[in-house]
Amino acid sequence: MSVTHYKQTPDGDWVEMTAEEVQASEQEGNREREEKAKEKGHYCDENPQHYGFEDEESGRWYHGQECSICGELIHTG
Ligand SMILES: [Zn+2]
Repeated sequence: MSVTHYKQTPDGDWVEMTAEEVQASEQEGNREREEKAKEKGHYCDENPQHYGFEDEESGRWYHGQECSICGELIHTG
């Protein structure tokens, strides 16, 4: 199964990314992940914990996953 990736041009248009561009951006993401792990001594996305809280003003419920070690946001739900 292949997923189509899109990127936004400076003009605000969304264009399909080439396979090379997708690979380059994945490599960039991996590099950042490695560097962060070196700095922190752990991979945040390997230590996920679920969080949830209600925003008192809006009454909206926020939830997602954060690192159980340093609390960095992994993704929001
Ligand atoms: Zn962490």
